[in-house]
Amino acid sequence: MTANLLDFDLEGLAAFCERLGEKRFRATQLFRWIHQRGASDFDQMSDLAKSLRGKLKTAAHVEGLRVISQHESTDGTIKWLFDVGAGDAVEAVFIPEDDRGTLCISSQAGCAVGCRFCSTGHQGFSRNLTTGEIVAQLWFAEHFLRKHLGRDERIVSNVVMMGMGEPLQNYNALVPALRVMLDDHGYGLSRRRVTVSTSGVVPMIDRLGNDCPVALAVSLHAPNNALRDNLVPLNKKYPLAELMDACNRYLDHAPRDFITFEYCMLDGVNDTPEHAQQLIELVQRHRRPGVWCKFNLIPFNPFPASGLLRSPAPRVAAFSKMLADAGIVTTVRKTRGDDIDAACGQLAGDVKDRTRVASRMAQQRTIMLKQAAPETAAIKDS
Ligand code: SF4
Repeated sequence: MTANLLDFDLEGLAAFCERLGEKRFRATQLFRWIHQRGASDFDQMSDLAKSLRGKLKTAAHVEGLRVISQHESTDGTIKWLFDVGAGDAVEAVFIPEDDRGTLCISSQAGCAVGCRFCSTGHQGFSRNLTTGEIVAQLWFAEHFLRKHLGRDERIVSNVVMMGMGEPLQNYNALVPALRVMLDDHGYGLSRRRVTVSTSGVVPMIDRLGNDCPVALAVSLHAPNNALRDNLVPLNKKYPLAELMDACNRYLDHAPRDFITFEYCMLDGVNDTPEHAQQLIELVQRHRRPGVWCKFNLIPFNPFPASGLLRSPAPRVAAFSKMLADAGIVTTVRKTRGDDIDAACGQLAGDVKDRTRVASRMAQQRTIMLKQAAPETAAIKDS
């Protein structure tokens, strides 16, 4: 079996080139062809020696994920469902805004954490994605969007690891993928524009701070342990005080000087004035100088199996005001892509039954793309 070059960060690709008897610097050229130009055909890589291209053809390939479906919202948000084999599918969502283009990508097929409000959590865990499968979501989206939007410039300016899965439970595949995103010869994203979102895997927060500090978002969702144990079961292992301490330690390494706390607003569950007050006290107990955290209140995207409802807008506004009045920077996330069910973190509402996914894959091929590269992909409406 030949190596899929999407699996390598630049260091890994250099080692691979050395194994082929080539100089390490050849890896930089190859890396740029793949990630900056979206190439997958070695014959296209005209500045590589013919002999190297010959070796690559026998030892390697560049292969993305097959797109099962693509849905575009009226607000420009685009959601893709990717086939990762054995009936599993993962989602990525592109969210365009005036000053940025954010891609939300997945790290696992399913998720073992089992948060109550998350449709991915309701699917259970299937498997970790490989580095190549994580990178392939960005590789595809960036080069597809350049063509789709007719622009020969970078489209994805921000990546959030906030799709399916707990990224810090797939750490060994995650870190090389982050390095590809950050590498100037890859996507050249600044550390501030790459965000890992975690439900609170405390030891891995510390490792990430040492190995590859990028922006950190923490799915908090509750102001006390009793409620968080129920909403985010991982809290039983790493309770709030430990999590907040880990966030504080992370800030010593972080590219931003604040942590983003995500808080999904659930009607009658975590959205009362008492909850807001507890949250204020939690933040104050772990205070650092300056603005060290920001809250992002997320309107819940209801799905039937959750038994939960979205908090009414006035309650979200009142909650937000209480935090803001206490000096906590708070935003309420705009809902995007409602018409295509695309909220990050709740991406998989319609793939929770993988058996259904398998039949969808057979029946529904809304858009099929050639398995190979974005630049050769042909869209066929079925
Ligand atoms: S919110 Fe994140 S960590 Fe929790 S179940 Fe969903 S994907 Fe997993």
